[in-house]
Amino acid sequence: MLDIAFHDGVAKDVRSEIARIAKRFVGHHHAYTGPRIDVIVTNTTTVSVKDGVRSFGAFIAPAVLVAGCGWETTEKTRKAQVKAVGNTFIHELLHLERWIQGKPQTERGIEAKAKRIRKANKWL
Ligand SMILES: [Zn+2]
Repeated sequence: MLDIAFHDGVAKDVRSEIARIAKRFVGHHHAYTGPRIDVIVTNTTTVSVKDGVRSFGAFIAPAVLVAGCGWETTEKTRKAQVKAVGNTFIHELLHLERWIQGKPQTERGIEAKAKRIRKANKWL
């Protein structure tokens, strides 16, 4: 259900983290029969959301954007940086999940659920 495209220059560890999370998401949504979703992981520190607004990630239905080099300046270790990119991806996948379920897009509850998913280390 997810077509993942990595821009040249996205590091191997980020690719692995994105693939790991995507696999769990797809497993959880195995009954999904809607259109394929583009996931684009850029080699930039932010992605363009709209009108000059930039973010570490975005869900622009039906596509997910993730800044593959995001958090490089804010996280102290490589491990923390890769994890932060993964956390961004989880956040945007939750917006995708709402879209799939026909729910309105809001930030309410997104981070709380993202935290539960990270803690459980699986999609819920
Ligand atoms: Zn959000």
